[in-house]
Amino acid sequence: MNSHDLEKWDKEYVWHPFTQMKTYRESKPLIIERGEGSYLFDVEGNRYLDGYASLWVNVHGHNEPELNNALIEQVEKVAHSTLLGSANVPSILLAKKLAEITPGHLSKVFYSDTGSAAVEISLKVAYQYWKNIDPVKYQHKNKFVSLNEAYHGDTVGAVSVGGMDLFHRIFKPLLFERIPTPSPYTYRMTEYGDQEAVKNYCIDELEKLLQDQAEEIAGLIIEPLVQGAAGIITHPPGFLKAVEQLCKKYNILLICDEVAVGFGRTGTLFACEQEDVVPDIMCIGKGITGGYMPLAATIMNEQIFNSFLGEPDEHKTFYHGHTYTGNQLACALALKNIELIERRDLVKDIQKKSKQLSEKLQSLYELPIVGDVRQRGLMIGIEIVKDRQTKEPFTIQENIVSSIIQNARENGLIIRELGPVITMMPILSMSEKELDIMVETVYRSIQDVSVHNGLIPAAN
Ligand SMILES: *Cc1c(COP(=O)(O)O)cnc(C)c1O
Repeated sequence: MNSHDLEKWDKEYVWHPFTQMKTYRESKPLIIERGEGSYLFDVEGNRYLDGYASLWVNVHGHNEPELNNALIEQVEKVAHSTLLGSANVPSILLAKKLAEITPGHLSKVFYSDTGSAAVEISLKVAYQYWKNIDPVKYQHKNKFVSLNEAYHGDTVGAVSVGGMDLFHRIFKPLLFERIPTPSPYTYRMTEYGDQEAVKNYCIDELEKLLQDQAEEIAGLIIEPLVQGAAGIITHPPGFLKAVEQLCKKYNILLICDEVAVGFGRTGTLFACEQEDVVPDIMCIGKGITGGYMPLAATIMNEQIFNSFLGEPDEHKTFYHGHTYTGNQLACALALKNIELIERRDLVKDIQKKSKQLSEKLQSLYELPIVGDVRQRGLMIGIEIVKDRQTKEPFTIQENIVSSIIQNARENGLIIRELGPVITMMPILSMSEKELDIMVETVYRSIQDVSVHNGLIPAAN
């Protein structure tokens, strides 16, 4: 087995997610063999800084001895037994811990294995909640509100509440109806004024629709503080709080999808803490196991949970469950991950590093194709434009953004683009020095690609 065979078999047998396989098969794939701290190594021994935290999941670095040991200790006891009708030790301890660290009265934990499933569960629970408490009075509470450009996962229910046209257009006939509300995308909404004005506009629009339709709405789902997949759209301060207040006022459930922002990413353990918001339901995933195993959870408050209590023949039971729900290996890793976050004071460390990073990021504005630099904690989006005045993006054919990503890879940095936005999602434990290297590499890649395409003169 050599790297040549692996490349051949990868192209022959593996269908990669979110990937145009025609293009993929014409390019040289990156085949990762091992990881160490903030770095990944490919089969040829090349080293890369993991500026994408392996799709936003890695917390303490790769090949972390304490996480490795947690996995080994658990696998020597048992790898998996079902949570349907029986319990297991790590899933109990983790649920108790999650109840303690999540905001407010969130205390009932329903496990699954992907963020999308956590979202599906939140929607089904929210829907059934109203039917459980009064099926006649709430017979019309069947719809969900979500933001424009929202992303909540790829299963059909999660796609239904999503707002990214690119991902949804083709599946439209399969989806249930959602009620869209404007997202405060300040950079592209300057016609409304500054970020405060954009926020007020979005809040007013939301209130108008709730005034008209709240009786048909079961809940509102939102990515708190930052819309990740849409290109790191950072919301103005106060937006989330205002959304929470409207949900309370109009009697609809608030679902916070913390799959991307949870576990320290934005500088607090959970993003909604920053606005003192307590959702009725919270979805978590991605960073929960420190990037080791697939695990997700949907966490509810007592009131919602209690509405599902009744005699078996009342059919208030939540008829939902996945085969690997509450998997011991994943839960044991999540427990260790949270223990390390606390013991290493990681959240405070992230706050400090974010501040330093924000100064460094300003240097990117020296490059004319950088339109907007957005950051919340260790979540960064660089929106690339042809022209700063018109904010016109490059076309896919012009191939600017993907060339920048490719150039960065050749210089030892893994990052990815989301449409016209270069995104950096470093491993949360990265050192200040490594974060500097990440930004410097991105700077150089944007510069190189700009020169190569005649967008700026060559530096001498
Ligand atoms: C990634 C993500 C999801 C989906 O999680 P998967 O584990 O990929 O299914 C849902 N919501 C948000 C906000 C995400 O970033």
